Amino acid sequence: MPYQVNTAQLLRLRKELTDRISAIEADIHHKKEPVEKDFAEQVTQRENDDVLIAIDDEAQQTVMMIDAALDRIKEGSYGICNVCNEKIPDQRLAALPYVITCIDCAD
Ligand SMILES: [Zn+2]
Repeated sequence: MPYQVNTAQLLRLRKELTDRISAIEADIHHKKEPVEKDFAEQVTQRENDDVLIAIDDEAQQTVMMIDAALDRIKEGSYGICNVCNEKIPDQRLAALPYVITCIDCAD
């Protein structure tokens, strides 16, 4: 029996991520924070920003993977490894519904 992809689940996850991205970007831009700070505070701020940017990048990548998965659902190629064309195991899809490669072809 083919894996029943849950499009609603993908869309819900996508929304969570885009909400998080908006929140992070608002935070990075420090819209409401005063500009003047001493040097130590500026350094801490920059370190925080680096962490936020890393989380942001990862979230954006996941959103792109979700979009790719949604396209694949439309095309009927969902659940097929993008590299070796073998079926991706249901267990893997259940855990990570947006993956496009099997475990062997990951990384
Ligand atoms: Zn593969």
